[in-house]
Amino acid sequence: MSGMDLQGKLRVVPDFPKPGISFKDITTLLKDGPAFRECIRLMAAQCRGREFDLVVSPEARGFILGGALAYELGVGFVPVRKRGKLPWKVIRGEYKLEYGMDTLEMHVDAVSRGQRVIVVDDVLATGGTISATLDLVEKVGGVISAVAFLIELTYLPGRENLRKYDVISVLKLES
Ligand code: AMP
Repeated sequence: MSGMDLQGKLRVVPDFPKPGISFKDITTLLKDGPAFRECIRLMAAQCRGREFDLVVSPEARGFILGGALAYELGVGFVPVRKRGKLPWKVIRGEYKLEYGMDTLEMHVDAVSRGQRVIVVDDVLATGGTISATLDLVEKVGGVISAVAFLIELTYLPGRENLRKYDVISVLKLES
């Protein structure tokens, strides 16, 4: 729990990026130093009960939270990126967007067999992006310790789609 109104620091933008989507803009929270730090403190507190060796996040907003969380927890950070950005040998996974497909990549040697991983992103919506990230980690033999989000949209089936995993979130939004 936090004494700070973190939810009040979000900017909710209706109909972005298209009609019907209520977009949770975290930039208004991130630019507030104490609020950003409190988010990371709360995520870290929930992670500390688990065993983990690494934090893995998909770009781009995942990097902001995942990087800070890895630093706070004192473990390494692994980036998962869009196609063509990583310079070394990659493992690749495709995932479904609302229209069409997209690709995520991770270096083949980024996670070792048996390493325990916390996967982090900003928002859990349907869980599609994070599932593709989880697949990459598991394909190279990593073990998912927890999946952590700053925001969980409880009106979408993200948690249900990730029911195999231990899901952590700091802010649960019902609308
Ligand atoms: P999903 O794969 O449906 O869980 O969502 C993919 C990504 O899109 C999430 O990691 C978020 O960064 C972003 N996203 C989806 N829905 C929203 C939303 N309503 N507000 C802000 N970001 C969102």
